[in-house]
Order: sequence, then C-alpha cells, then structure tokens
Amino acid sequence: MEESENLLVVILDINAKQWSQRVEEFKKVVDSVMVFCNSYLMMNHSNKLAFYTCNHSNATILYPAELDENESRILDGKFELFVELNTILSRKIKALVNEIDGKIENQPTTSLLSGAFSQALCYIHKKKNEDPSGQRLSSRILVIKASPDVSSQYMPVMNCIFASQKHNIAVDSCSLFHRSGFLQQAADITGGTYNFVDNVSGFLELLIWIYLPEKGVREKFELPTNVEIDYRAACFCHNTLIEMGFVCSVCLSIYCKFMPKCLTCQTRFRLPQLPPMKGKKKKKVA
Ligand SMILES: [Zn+2]
Ligand SMILES: [Zn+2]
Repeated sequence: MEESENLLVVILDINAKQWSQRVEEFKKVVDSVMVFCNSYLMMNHSNKLAFYTCNHSNATILYPAELDENESRILDGKFELFVELNTILSRKIKALVNEIDGKIENQPTTSLLSGAFSQALCYIHKKKNEDPSGQRLSSRILVIKASPDVSSQYMPVMNCIFASQKHNIAVDSCSLFHRSGFLQQAADITGGTYNFVDNVSGFLELLIWIYLPEKGVREKFELPTNVEIDYRAACFCHNTLIEMGFVCSVCLSIYCKFMPKCLTCQTRFRLPQLPPMKGKKKKKVA
C-alpha cells in the first residue's frame, strides 16, 4: 500500500495582552509546542510542518523559512531539521514578542484567527498543487488559541471551517483559558479533536497524547470526546452570538430580530397580516 505524506500546520495565538498576564505559562506553551513539532517531524521522515502565529493585528508564517547566515554554522553534529526548526521558531517568536513589548496598553485581547486560518488553508492548497502526487498529501491544522472568540470573526472563521471540510482537512484545536465555540464547531465539522485547557502544567503530555497521532490512528485510542458543542451563530446585524434568530429564506443570512429587508440580498419580507380584531382588544402576540 502506498503511504500518504502528512502535512501539519500549527497556528499559535500569541496575543500580547492575553499572554502579558501569564508570562511563565507562555514560555511553557512555546517550549511544549516546539517539543511537539520536533516529535511530529521525528515520527516519520516524510512528515512536513508549517507554523503560523496570529495576534491582534496580523497573522504570519514563521516556518518554513531560511536560516540566517550565522545560524547555519551551528548545524554540526545535530539533526539538521530540528536545529533549523528550533532556531527559526525561537528567533522569530522572540522578535515578535520584543516588537510588541511595552505597547500593549490599548491593544485588543482578541486575535486574528481567521487570518492565520485562511493563510494555512492557502499553504496546504499550494503544497498539494506543487507535488505531482499531491493527492496523497494528507493535511491537518492544529490551532492553539489563548484569546476569546470574537463574534466579528464568525463569518470568516466559518468559511475557513467549511473550506477545510470540503478539502478533507481535519481541524484540531486546543483552547487555552477560554472555551471556544468556533473551535468546537471546527473540530465537529471537520472530524478533528477539540480540547479546553485551563492549566498548562501538563500541556506537553496533552499535545503528544492527543495531537501527535494522525486521525486514523486516534480511533484506536480512548481519547476524550466532546459532549457539548456550542453551535450558536453570530447575527449579521450586530455580530452577537444568538441561540435563536431569523434566517433569510433566500440567502440564509442570520438576524437577531425581524428585518423587513435582508441586508445581504436586499429581499423584502412582510410579516403575515393579523386577522381583523373583533370586539374586545386581545393582547398582541409577539
Ligand atoms: Zn443582530
Ligand atoms: Zn437575504
């Protein structure tokens, strides 16, 4: 049987305002993620990895990248791939942290998950097209998020989730300190695994145990399953998450209140006429 190649895209949320309260935990998470990435590359020589970060204002690819001239001299006697990955990741993460150091006062506590997510999907798409045997490339995304969901990102994130589902890309996720409805839905729709982590003391063990095995292998393990999934959608009018709302019958836009005209497709709607009142005035039914 021909073995397929695996590509893992890791997205790490490095929102400065969130992490500035938890500096020690941030170091632990970064170290754990780096060990996890090394382990992933060690599992199989054909395993490929890409690494993205997102913060309040942008999403960046950190790896694959070129080593600096002076960095490439330290390769002697070590496994090239690990040194390259570790050196590039630690240099770039340090640079990103220094860049925002001391400027976090007015920064938002939310991150551009959709930006990193869509870049990851484009990267996977590019890799599939580059490889003549691209159909054998099996890819998945792992999101490690530390900031809360923001409803203004509902639409772009949902679009990324459905694109992943269409291309058979599992979205694994680990939500730190805040539960994430977006990531729960992503895991449920794409067949990935979602976990909420409140305390990062056993973070590396969790990464290796749950996220290292590929999807097919996981079925053989007794892994924790998601019982509750937050399927609330954000309304298109105020971007707030709602449990019940009005849906446009033409374009499926969601509204938290009745809209005489759909904001997306401009279709006009009329409430059905109430029967004419006779005699005593009855209380209006909402
Ligand atoms: Zn609304
Ligand atoms: Zn509409």
